[in-house]
Amino acid sequence: MTSCPAAGGPAAGSFMNGTRLIARLALAALLAAAAGPAPVPAADKSAEYRAVVDRLRQTGLAGERAAEFLARIVSAGPRLTGSPQAAAAVEITRRLMEEQGLARVHTEPVEVGRWVRGEIAEAAVAASPRRPAVPLAVCALGGSVATPDRGLAAPVIEVGSLDEVDTLGDRVRGRIVFYNRPMDRRLAEPFAAYGGAADQRVGGASRAARHGAVAVLVRSLTFRTDRHPHTGRLVYEPGTTRIPAAAIATADADLLSRLLREEKNVAVSLRLDCRDLGRTASANVVGEITGSEIPEEIVLLGGHLDSWDLSVGAHDDAAGCAVALEALALLRDLGLKPRRTVRAVAFMDEEFGGTGGRAYAASPLRRGERHIVAAESDRGGFTPAALAIGGRDGRARDRIMPYAQLFAPFGAASVVPGGGGVDVAPLVEQGAAPAAVLVNAQSYFDVHHSALDVLDAVQPRELELQAIILAALAWIMAEEGI
Ligand SMILES: [Zn+2]
Repeated sequence: MTSCPAAGGPAAGSFMNGTRLIARLALAALLAAAAGPAPVPAADKSAEYRAVVDRLRQTGLAGERAAEFLARIVSAGPRLTGSPQAAAAVEITRRLMEEQGLARVHTEPVEVGRWVRGEIAEAAVAASPRRPAVPLAVCALGGSVATPDRGLAAPVIEVGSLDEVDTLGDRVRGRIVFYNRPMDRRLAEPFAAYGGAADQRVGGASRAARHGAVAVLVRSLTFRTDRHPHTGRLVYEPGTTRIPAAAIATADADLLSRLLREEKNVAVSLRLDCRDLGRTASANVVGEITGSEIPEEIVLLGGHLDSWDLSVGAHDDAAGCAVALEALALLRDLGLKPRRTVRAVAFMDEEFGGTGGRAYAASPLRRGERHIVAAESDRGGFTPAALAIGGRDGRARDRIMPYAQLFAPFGAASVVPGGGGVDVAPLVEQGAAPAAVLVNAQSYFDVHHSALDVLDAVQPRELELQAIILAALAWIMAEEGI
């Protein structure tokens, strides 16, 4: 009982008499008994599951099939939502599922938006008496409006937060607001550092527009200092003027910041020809191993098929689709017939608003189905670090905990609460337990949403480890139920 600070504190004896101490210890013993030992499954299937996981390991690690699936998916090219490449990826994934002998392979319609980057993304610091003009590496943020055809030019004002824009108020009028707060390097968890800086990209344009800014530049979300801008979605507030928004590479952000310190008055020109093409038809891709006893109960493994358009989005998130598919292929290799259905879903449009995840959950095809677990792989195809499984009452995690040590050889040293993602959030709202393989993502944001997220950035064995963990999770949960 280390959770009772008073009993163990250095001053405890000085004001606690003997009787009270004994009563306290008795209470502690009682509480310990009530808490009981670690949960034991109704029927301990450790030996049975260990044998399955052992076969998954031998089959999975003998090859690099997850990476082969990945290569097939990225062969479609950059798969921006609504693009012809995204449509090609739907067809490739459908074919892959059929080739792997999955059941009920089909696509489900999703209506998505279509934004295109265009050809032009130019920015430069205007020449000063001391130096020539300095080009800046920028790219449009996803969803940005274009600049006027000839571009725009305005003095720049640097800020560290959205609140600072409010504080400056009228002083940003007519200017380009430059958001330059870096991801916090002191945080060990890269997703936390990303989450702590992403508000500038998502909401920076509208906040600046409220006060009359003409455009925004946003420091790219990466720990690296380089010349690759990282894109990502912005969200315009309804009723606020839509102003152009671009990501600026970190090295260029540092340079611009230095020039602002040295010269005070610095003007930047910006030219973007991105545009919105309205709504279009797209699809999620679905395939499964149908449950032998309770087919209407489903363990879902998913990733998102769309990507950003500066590269093929190998980590984000062709990797997630590849590991979901490989997990099912491994179960099929072993000839396993799960009691409940194990389903792979390649979702469309995670990056531009999650319409695929919502369409899947709301589809009439879901009638009579109950998703017990919804696992999403969207953290990069890196070495596993833990298995996360959540759910309101913790019952899904209780089912897995007795077998937690089976995941350790693949890197998942612990089973922790959590999991899920944008695509499965609507299913989680309906009661599914979220899950995810947590990974060592220290290098994820080096490539995330940039030109660097290419096939070679994914290490095939690391990817295969994720697939094995997902296959084991799916098998156990399909056997156990919730
Ligand atoms: Zn993603």
